[in-house]
Amino acid sequence: MTAIQSNPQNGFFFSARSQERLGGVHPDLARMVRRALQLSSVDFAVLEGRRSLERQTLLYESGATRTLNSRHLSGHAVDLGAWVGGSLRWDWPLYEKINQAMQLAAMEIAVPVEWGGDWKSFKDGPHFQLPWGEYPILHPSRFPSVAPQDEGVN
Ligand SMILES: [Zn+2]
Repeated sequence: MTAIQSNPQNGFFFSARSQERLGGVHPDLARMVRRALQLSSVDFAVLEGRRSLERQTLLYESGATRTLNSRHLSGHAVDLGAWVGGSLRWDWPLYEKINQAMQLAAMEIAVPVEWGGDWKSFKDGPHFQLPWGEYPILHPSRFPSVAPQDEGVN
Protein backbone atom coordinates (compact mmCIF):
# COMPACT_ATOMS: atom_id res chain seq x y z
CA MET A 1 0.00 0.00 0.00
CA THR A 2 1.22 3.45 -0.84
CA ALA A 3 0.86 5.92 1.97
CA ILE A 4 -1.47 8.67 0.88
CA GLN A 5 -1.12 11.89 2.76
CA SER A 6 -4.18 14.03 2.46
CA ASN A 7 -3.78 17.69 3.16
CA PRO A 8 -6.31 18.82 5.78
CA GLN A 9 -6.42 22.32 4.30
CA ASN A 10 -7.43 21.66 0.72
CA GLY A 11 -8.06 17.92 0.76
CA PHE A 12 -5.74 17.31 -2.21
CA PHE A 13 -3.62 14.19 -2.29
CA PHE A 14 -1.55 12.41 -4.90
CA SER A 15 -2.77 9.18 -6.44
CA ALA A 16 -0.53 6.13 -6.22
CA ARG A 17 0.42 6.77 -9.84
CA SER A 18 1.46 10.36 -9.15
CA GLN A 19 3.51 9.21 -6.16
CA GLU A 20 5.19 6.54 -8.22
CA ARG A 21 6.15 9.12 -10.87
CA LEU A 22 7.56 11.42 -8.18
CA GLY A 23 9.70 8.53 -6.98
CA GLY A 24 11.89 8.82 -10.08
CA VAL A 25 12.67 12.51 -9.78
CA HIS A 26 15.34 14.37 -7.84
CA PRO A 27 14.40 14.45 -4.13
CA ASP A 28 14.51 18.28 -3.98
CA LEU A 29 12.01 18.52 -6.80
CA ALA A 30 9.82 15.78 -5.35
CA ARG A 31 9.74 17.60 -2.03
CA MET A 32 8.81 20.84 -3.74
CA VAL A 33 5.98 19.22 -5.68
CA ARG A 34 4.58 17.57 -2.54
CA ARG A 35 4.64 20.87 -0.67
CA ALA A 36 3.11 22.72 -3.63
CA LEU A 37 0.12 20.39 -3.59
CA GLN A 38 -0.53 21.40 0.01
CA LEU A 39 -0.32 25.09 -0.88
CA SER A 40 -2.15 24.96 -4.20
CA SER A 41 -5.63 26.29 -4.86
CA VAL A 42 -5.87 23.93 -7.84
CA ASP A 43 -5.59 20.17 -7.53
CA PHE A 44 -2.99 18.59 -9.79
CA ALA A 45 -1.49 15.25 -10.75
CA VAL A 46 2.07 14.29 -11.67
CA LEU A 47 1.85 13.38 -15.35
CA GLU A 48 5.49 12.59 -15.93
CA GLY A 49 8.77 12.62 -14.07
CA ARG A 50 11.87 10.82 -15.27
CA ARG A 51 11.72 9.90 -18.94
CA SER A 52 13.66 7.34 -20.96
CA LEU A 53 15.76 8.46 -23.93
CA GLU A 54 13.57 6.28 -26.14
CA ARG A 55 10.47 8.14 -25.07
CA GLN A 56 12.20 11.51 -25.39
CA THR A 57 13.25 10.63 -28.93
CA LEU A 58 9.69 9.65 -29.77
CA LEU A 59 8.36 12.93 -28.35
CA TYR A 60 11.05 14.85 -30.23
CA GLU A 61 10.23 13.21 -33.53
CA SER A 62 6.52 13.84 -33.03
CA GLY A 63 7.15 17.54 -32.36
CA ALA A 64 5.90 17.35 -28.77
CA THR A 65 9.25 18.58 -27.52
CA ARG A 66 12.03 20.62 -29.09
CA THR A 67 14.95 18.96 -27.41
CA LEU A 68 16.65 15.65 -26.91
CA ASN A 69 18.46 17.13 -23.94
CA SER A 70 15.50 17.25 -21.61
CA ARG A 71 15.71 17.62 -17.87
CA HIS A 72 13.21 14.77 -17.73
CA LEU A 73 15.95 12.34 -18.76
CA SER A 74 17.80 12.83 -15.50
CA GLY A 75 14.77 13.25 -13.25
CA HIS A 76 15.25 17.02 -12.93
CA ALA A 77 11.83 17.85 -14.38
CA VAL A 78 8.17 17.08 -13.84
CA ASP A 79 5.00 17.71 -15.78
CA LEU A 80 2.01 18.56 -13.63
CA GLY A 81 -1.59 18.40 -14.84
CA ALA A 82 -4.46 20.43 -13.41
CA TRP A 83 -7.14 18.14 -12.07
CA VAL A 84 -10.61 19.68 -11.94
CA GLY A 85 -13.90 17.87 -11.45
CA GLY A 86 -12.40 14.47 -12.14
CA SER A 87 -10.53 15.30 -15.33
CA LEU A 88 -7.32 16.87 -16.54
CA ARG A 89 -7.72 20.46 -17.73
CA TRP A 90 -5.35 22.46 -19.87
CA ASP A 91 -6.78 25.95 -19.27
CA TRP A 92 -3.87 28.35 -18.88
CA PRO A 93 -5.07 30.15 -15.69
CA LEU A 94 -4.97 26.82 -13.83
CA TYR A 95 -1.28 26.49 -14.62
CA GLU A 96 -0.56 29.99 -13.39
CA LYS A 97 -2.09 28.93 -10.08
CA ILE A 98 -0.06 25.73 -9.95
CA ASN A 99 3.03 27.81 -10.70
CA GLN A 100 2.19 30.14 -7.81
CA ALA A 101 2.07 27.16 -5.47
CA MET A 102 5.35 25.81 -6.90
CA GLN A 103 7.09 29.17 -6.46
CA LEU A 104 5.88 29.37 -2.85
CA ALA A 105 7.05 25.85 -2.13
CA ALA A 106 10.39 26.57 -3.81
CA MET A 107 10.95 29.63 -1.63
CA GLU A 108 9.96 27.76 1.48
CA ILE A 109 12.43 24.93 0.96
CA ALA A 110 15.04 27.21 -0.66
CA VAL A 111 15.32 25.24 -3.90
CA PRO A 112 15.25 27.07 -7.26
CA VAL A 113 12.70 26.14 -9.91
CA GLU A 114 12.01 27.10 -13.51
CA TRP A 115 8.53 27.08 -14.98
CA GLY A 116 8.02 26.18 -18.63
CA GLY A 117 5.20 28.73 -18.70
CA ASP A 118 7.83 31.47 -18.42
CA TRP A 119 9.58 30.40 -21.61
CA LYS A 120 9.08 32.81 -24.45
CA SER A 121 9.21 30.71 -27.57
CA PHE A 122 7.58 27.47 -26.48
CA LYS A 123 5.41 27.90 -23.41
CA ASP A 124 4.99 24.68 -21.48
CA GLY A 125 2.55 25.24 -18.62
CA PRO A 126 2.73 21.77 -17.07
CA HIS A 127 6.56 21.71 -17.02
CA PHE A 128 8.72 22.51 -13.99
CA GLN A 129 12.45 21.86 -13.71
CA LEU A 130 15.46 22.36 -11.50
CA PRO A 131 17.80 24.86 -13.23
CA TRP A 132 20.84 23.54 -15.15
CA GLY A 133 23.10 26.00 -13.36
CA GLU A 134 22.36 24.85 -9.82
CA TYR A 135 21.66 21.24 -10.79
CA PRO A 136 24.07 20.18 -13.52
CA ILE A 137 23.95 16.63 -14.83
CA LEU A 138 26.64 14.62 -13.12
CA HIS A 139 27.24 12.26 -15.99
CA PRO A 140 26.77 14.23 -19.21
CA SER A 141 28.17 11.41 -21.33
CA ARG A 142 25.00 9.47 -20.66
CA PHE A 143 22.99 12.13 -22.44
CA PRO A 144 22.95 13.40 -26.02
CA SER A 145 25.54 16.06 -26.70
CA VAL A 146 23.17 18.92 -27.20
CA ALA A 147 24.09 22.19 -25.55
CA PRO A 148 21.79 23.15 -22.68
CA GLN A 149 19.41 25.97 -23.49
CA ASP A 150 17.72 28.27 -21.07
CA GLU A 151 14.37 27.72 -22.61
CA GLY A 152 12.52 25.19 -24.66
CA VAL A 153 14.13 22.38 -22.76
CA ASN A 154 11.01 20.47 -21.93
ZN1 LIG B 1 8.10 18.51 -19.17
